[in-house]
Amino acid sequence: MPDAELVELAGRLPAAALVTDPDLIAGYRFDRSNAPRAGWPRAVVRATCTQDVQTTLRWATRHRIAVVPRGAGTSLAGGSLAVDDGLVLSLERMRAITVDPAAAIAVAQPGALNAEVKAAASSGGLWYPPDPSSFAICSIGGNVATNAGGACCVKYGVTTDYVLGLEVVLADGRALRLGGQTVKDVAGYDLKRLFVGSEGTLGVVTEVTLRLMPPPAASVTMVATFPDIGSAGRAVTAIAAHGRPSALELMDQVAVTSVEKRLHMGLDTGCGAFLVGRSDVGGDRGRSEVAQMVSCCRSHGASEVYWTDDEDEGEQFMAARRMAIPAVERLGTVLIEDVGVPLPAVTDLVEGIATISTTHETVIATIGHAGDGNFHPLVVFDRGDPAATKRAERAFGAVMDLARSLGGTITGEHGVGTLKRPWLADQLGDDVMALHYQLKEMLDPLGILNPGKAI
Ligand SMILES: Cc1cc2nc3c(=O)[nH]c(=O)nc-3n(C[C@H](O)[C@H](O)[C@H](O)COP(=O)(O)OP(=O)(O)OC[C@H]3O[C@@H](n4cnc5c(N)ncnc54)[C@H](O)[C@@H]3O)c2cc1C
Repeated sequence: MPDAELVELAGRLPAAALVTDPDLIAGYRFDRSNAPRAGWPRAVVRATCTQDVQTTLRWATRHRIAVVPRGAGTSLAGGSLAVDDGLVLSLERMRAITVDPAAAIAVAQPGALNAEVKAAASSGGLWYPPDPSSFAICSIGGNVATNAGGACCVKYGVTTDYVLGLEVVLADGRALRLGGQTVKDVAGYDLKRLFVGSEGTLGVVTEVTLRLMPPPAASVTMVATFPDIGSAGRAVTAIAAHGRPSALELMDQVAVTSVEKRLHMGLDTGCGAFLVGRSDVGGDRGRSEVAQMVSCCRSHGASEVYWTDDEDEGEQFMAARRMAIPAVERLGTVLIEDVGVPLPAVTDLVEGIATISTTHETVIATIGHAGDGNFHPLVVFDRGDPAATKRAERAFGAVMDLARSLGGTITGEHGVGTLKRPWLADQLGDDVMALHYQLKEMLDPLGILNPGKAI
């Protein structure tokens, strides 16, 4: 039976926006981080408009109730895990998208999927570049809140590079409009960038204005296999030093084998590592960009190199790489890393991860957006085995420590969420952490927005 506070909230929201059925609530507790636990929220609000979000946050402020903003729940960092006695504020029903081809912009509500934004842009003859591997299932609001990356970000940048304007609702219910529709805008501090990547802890994104691009030329794709991961790492650094591919993705042997088991596409499961590189420049220049990648792979010990200008065939190799996380998840429970290092340190990182795997007697499948030094070592373990779980947790920390020791970051695109929180202060230092707390205190003084996440 809903309590008096929820009855009050229900009275202020459209019919059916407030969900209190425990069976339905259960579907909003977890995300894709494989976290063993999540809270039991009191209710879920499925907002239909900015006003619903404002109503909900005003109510939450009045009653001091924690609110977890939620897009599609594909966080790999535990960012959208529900909290006990809180509210999940789902944006999944706010999905409208309009495209203005003359201005080369899209205005999207936060629940629109990344793939839907891409499709809308395409129908206007334009392109929205950021392409997380989850693009078919994650929301644009979630992408903004995590500053999501993806394969093409090595050349085209990450979500924040496409955000021209935002509408954000603060914890107290005020709606702010930040930025706008112009490509250049330096009026005041660039506050929209403060909210991009803030993981639902500073405000709720209710509308986003995105810059669109002309579509690129058809891609030429190269794939290379290597006897060991170190050679692949050296090839990555060489390719990145010589040019700017439109994608440069890596899978190690464990990942290749797991993907092959699912897709049966003839990948070489005996290789130590597998690289996919792409050029989208088109014509002779595209072919020569790929020839340069091929040459870097050969001179760094590639066993086999193959290239194709057949767009569909190239897309199959990219789809194989996108399949890596679900494929490796079949091996056991997976803790998903998201470390990033400067490009010259790629080989030290991938070889160091292999050493950590051996030392901690734990399977780690390494995949990543190699061209921008961002890797997702997937730490595999059996949660039913306490000793294996302990080893995996230690390995998970060791990978982040390694990335930090190489001048890198604990998270390149997934966010801190709950999983990487214990390592954040070490990376940022006391003064920067203190500034984070001050900003949080200013924008969300009661601490109701996504508590326990990010900072
Ligand atoms: C198979 C797989 C592959 C992936 N590949 C990539 C990849 O290549 N690159 C990448 O960057 N990520 C990747 N991800 C992670 C994930 O898809 C992204 O982090 C994505 O941006 C999350 O979007 P979402 O809608 O699912 O957000 P959610 O999981 O719902 O939320 C994520 C965070 O954003 C906050 N949030 C969500 N919506 C809003 C809003 N409207 N306002 C304020 N805060 C909000 C939440 O509170 C939470 O902190 C992958 C995930 C999977 C499962």
